[in-house]
Amino acid sequence: MALQPVFQETIAAVATATGAAGVGIVRISGPDAFTVADRLTSGKRAAANQPTHTLRRVTICDPNTQEPLDDALLAVFHGPRSLTGENVVEIQGHGGMVTLQRVLSACLAGGARAARPGEFTERAFRNGKMDLAQAEAVAALVSSQTVAAQRAALRQVSGELSDAVNEAAVVLQEALALIEASIDFPEEIGDADPVQVDAPLAHAETMVRSLLSTAGYGRRLQEGLTIVLAGRPNVGKSSLLNALSGTQRAIVTPIPGTTRDIVEEALNLQGLPVRALDTAGIRDTFDPVEQIGVARAREAMRSADVVVAVLDAADGTLTAEDVLLLESLAPQPHVVAVNKSDAADPAELIESATAVTPDAAIVPVSATTQEGLSLLSEAIVRTVTGNAAGAGSDAPLVTSARHEAALRAALDALLAARATLAEGLPLEMIAVDVHGTLQSLGEITGAATREEIIAGIFARFCLGK
Ligand code: GDP
Repeated sequence: MALQPVFQETIAAVATATGAAGVGIVRISGPDAFTVADRLTSGKRAAANQPTHTLRRVTICDPNTQEPLDDALLAVFHGPRSLTGENVVEIQGHGGMVTLQRVLSACLAGGARAARPGEFTERAFRNGKMDLAQAEAVAALVSSQTVAAQRAALRQVSGELSDAVNEAAVVLQEALALIEASIDFPEEIGDADPVQVDAPLAHAETMVRSLLSTAGYGRRLQEGLTIVLAGRPNVGKSSLLNALSGTQRAIVTPIPGTTRDIVEEALNLQGLPVRALDTAGIRDTFDPVEQIGVARAREAMRSADVVVAVLDAADGTLTAEDVLLLESLAPQPHVVAVNKSDAADPAELIESATAVTPDAAIVPVSATTQEGLSLLSEAIVRTVTGNAAGAGSDAPLVTSARHEAALRAALDALLAARATLAEGLPLEMIAVDVHGTLQSLGEITGAATREEIIAGIFARFCLGK
């Protein structure tokens, strides 16, 4: 099939992570992808004549000096049946920074231009291979930190969220058709029946609300959360952190770029990537300068998404220090872990803690026997995500702040449309709000997204994606 290229330039980039890996891939996409590949492979066969979706073993050479650079497999994809919708060649050679950079330089010498971050995915979007929500999910998939996050991202790549959004849009179009027919042909059609118009609006509202209900959990899947364990020395904060990390260890190592001088673990609580900080560690590290340690502990607590106040069941009752801690936590999300419940009956302590902080979840646990740990992690997740649907749910998850904002705007416009209808105001006014709802939904899939927002989304991708 003859292609009508949207982009004139052919781009190339290293698509695999740099490092001493077994395999490394340089990707070329664009109208001249095959010509560029031919300039690097002195073989008899032109890439254009290689059947699509096949591999061929080649020697990659510098197009100027003919020096061999790598022994590789050439994967050829004829557009539009390719990632970007364009002709694509992937040079699958050896990993390693030097080899990959030399092969990439050869591609540039052969006529390609270095791709910008996200440019392959952007071309896939512009060429209609995927919509904006799917393209964003590609970035989320690459950076996902837990199995649950990865699963959600993969489902979004496959278009589940887009399908749900488009379904709501189709329902709204129904309402709009009724309204507009009655506006355009008042004589023939007469006034639209408000009940008939409201039915699809109500249906769309349910759909939008159901998507929004997953956002509390979904966004945390991508963004993760930080918890801080606080409490007096010896209540068992470090033991609890160890127990949590033993039973719920994340696949990842601690998130890069975080401060190293506090004791920190990467956990996976109900699928959410969690950074857990032990304030005891702050104190220990800074023992000679206790002041700084305490200040850091306070700062960590203030910026945490949830503070886990740890009490010692063996104490039997709250100490003055415990009361101060619980009172200081009142304005922020927190849960109370009554630790060492194996050693002493926690009932009395739970009762007195409830009196100080009646709204917080209070969970008896034992770092030693590990009893209560999953209830504690549930309580932590519930505290930060509210009663959000999400964990283990089959519905598409809303995982991005941008999508959540668009859905909220859609809901506002939809509620306005329904209120206008209920008040018996002119149909034109309802139509404006329904159009507004559709506009907001279109922002998710890219059907109605401003150019600078689209550009910003792709600029955040990594190079080679
Ligand atoms: P931190 O100073 O708050 O970090 O407390 P640690 O984690 O260092 O624990 C203090 C002491 O309590 C240690 O001797 C632990 O073995 C003990 N401990 C911690 N958790 C439990 C528990 O759940 N049950 C019992 N019986 N002892 C515990």
